[in-house]
Amino acid sequence: MKRICVFCGSRPGRDDTFLALARSVGAELARRGIGIVYGGGRVGMMGALADAALEAGGEVIGIIPHALERAEVAHQGLTALHVVISMHERKAMMGNLSDAFLALPGGFGTMDELFEALTWQQLGYHAKPIALLDNGDFFAPLMALLQRMLDDDLLTIESYGRVRLARSLDEILADPEMAQALTLARGVRQ
Ligand code: AMP
Repeated sequence: MKRICVFCGSRPGRDDTFLALARSVGAELARRGIGIVYGGGRVGMMGALADAALEAGGEVIGIIPHALERAEVAHQGLTALHVVISMHERKAMMGNLSDAFLALPGGFGTMDELFEALTWQQLGYHAKPIALLDNGDFFAPLMALLQRMLDDDLLTIESYGRVRLARSLDEILADPEMAQALTLARGVRQ
């Protein structure tokens, strides 16, 4: 089964659109037979994503550090929950188990995970596609910052071009690289 690693907020967000986006992405991925790898929490957008995918019969793998599991934020109803020692180990495992990355709106944790995936891709540690999915214009300031990095020659046009911003999962899956990553037979993992 192909899997996508989803980064999203551990908080529910200011209005219903954030949870609604997480729920619809979870349900739609399950419907398409794409497994989810995520941070393993039962809170906020993370919990909504996992619950919706599970309700739709999807596979959801959570990876949570020991300290957060003990804080009882871990989701106990997942297909699998891996408890790891550190945040570093968690991020490495999330990437290794996935074929592509998807960031939804979120806070520091989401941005940290997104930027690590982008940085590692830029350095050639992986070649898995990365997309952002918006519920409005949440990512507009981030895209403006990336444009600024490009204008100031702090980012190459190739790296800039690898950040795909979409308004729907259909749009993301229509991207040839995404479609290929999420539909071809699973190869050897790093
Ligand atoms: P944030 O965007 O700061 O809410 O952080 C969300 C991201 O960081 C998720 O994609 C998780 O992988 C990780 N994370 C942050 N808080 C938690 C939590 N309470 N439980 C599990 N994972 C979390």
